Amino acid sequence: MFVKSVKFENYRNLADGEFFPCDSVNVIYGDNAQGKTNLAEAIWLFTGQKSFRGTRDAQLVNKQNPDKCAKLDASFYSLGRNQTAQINIAGKRSAVLNESAVSSPSKLSESFCSVVFSPADMQLIDDGPAIRRKFFDNAISILRPKYAKIITAYNRAVQQRNAILKDVMYHSELTFMLDAFEDNIAKYGEYIISQRKKYLAAVTEKMPEIYGGLSNNREQISIKYKASGFDDNPVSADMLREAIYKNRAEDIKTAVTSIGPHRDDFDIFINGDSVKIYGSQGQKRSSIIALKLCEAEILMRQRSERPIMILDDVMSELDRSRQNYILNHIMDWQVFITCCDPETVENLNSGSRFHIQNGNITAE
Ligand code: ATP
Ligand code: MG
Repeated sequence: MFVKSVKFENYRNLADGEFFPCDSVNVIYGDNAQGKTNLAEAIWLFTGQKSFRGTRDAQLVNKQNPDKCAKLDASFYSLGRNQTAQINIAGKRSAVLNESAVSSPSKLSESFCSVVFSPADMQLIDDGPAIRRKFFDNAISILRPKYAKIITAYNRAVQQRNAILKDVMYHSELTFMLDAFEDNIAKYGEYIISQRKKYLAAVTEKMPEIYGGLSNNREQISIKYKASGFDDNPVSADMLREAIYKNRAEDIKTAVTSIGPHRDDFDIFINGDSVKIYGSQGQKRSSIIALKLCEAEILMRQRSERPIMILDDVMSELDRSRQNYILNHIMDWQVFITCCDPETVENLNSGSRFHIQNGNITAE
C-alpha cells in the first residue's frame, strides 16, 4: 500500500497544508525540533493506533490554537483501491474511513497498515519484559483480533486471582474461587503462549537473513521465548494449572500471580550473547530494526501487500554499511525516513526528499 497525500490542519507544529509523498522512499530531513517526528507520527496515526510516542491525543493539537480541532486527511492506495481517511482530534479522537464515520479509530487498521521504528523502540531491549510482551502482543493482535480479546480475558483472570489472593488469608471460604480463576488463567495462558511461540517461529524464519545482511554476515542473531516457570518445551493448560496451583501458598504471601504469560519474556542473542547484557548501541539498534522489518514482512504475507515503513531517526548510531543495507532492503516499499543530515541517505538513487523547517515542508 502507499500514501498519496496527507493534509494537516492545526496539528502539532506542522503548518496547515498538504504533503505529497512518492510511492517509494521519502526522506524527510531538517534540524532538530523542526517537525520531522510530528510528520512521521501524523502518517502513523492513520493505522488507528495511539501515537508511537505514547502521547495523549490532546497533545496532538497545535498548542497555539488549543480550542480548535486538529485534522488530518489522507488519501492512499490499499487493498487494490484508492481510499481516504480523516482523523479529528478535539480532546478525543474520531475517524472517518472512505467517507463513513467509524465507531472507533482502530477500525482504520483494516485499511491502513504500517510499521514504525522510532528511537523510543530502543526500550524494547533496554527496559523490562512488559514492553517486549506488549510489542509481540500488539503485532499478533493485528494479525489475529481474537488474540487481543484473549489477552484481555487472561489479564482479567489474573487480576481476579490476585484480588482473591489478597483476601483469602482472612476469608478461607474464598479458596474455591481460586480454582475457577486458575482454570481460566491456564486455558487462556496456553493459547497466548502458543500464539507467541508461533509468531516467534515466523520471526525466526526471517530475522537471521535480515540481521545477517545488516551486519555484513559477521553476526548471527537468534530470539528465544522465556516462559516463566518452564523450560523450552510447549506449555499446556494442564502444566500451567499445575504450576500455578503449586505456587499458591507463595502467591498468597505476595498477593501476586507469579507464573503465566504475563511474566514471560523474550531474549535476543547475537553470536550467542544476550544483546540486553552485552550488545553495543549499534547492535541493539540493528536487532530492533531487524525485528521491525520481520514484523513488516509477516504483515505483508498476511495482507498480500506491503505495509508502509516509518523509520524515525533510524540511521543514527549505524555505520555506513548498515545504513545502506536498510536503504536497499526497503527500496520496493513506501518508506518515510527522517534524519537531520540528508548525507546519511545520499546513496539513495530513487525516491523523494523533503526539507522541513519550522513545520513547513518543502519538496526538493
Ligand atoms: P529531532 O531531530 O530533535 O527529533 P524533530 O524535527 O523530529 O526533531 P519534532 O519532534 O517533530 O521535531 O517536534 C518539532 C517541534 O514541534 C518541537 O519544537 C515541539 O516542541 C513542537 N511541538 C510538539 N507538539 C506540539 C504541539 N502540540 N503544538 C505545537 N508545537 C508542538
Ligand atoms: Mg524527531
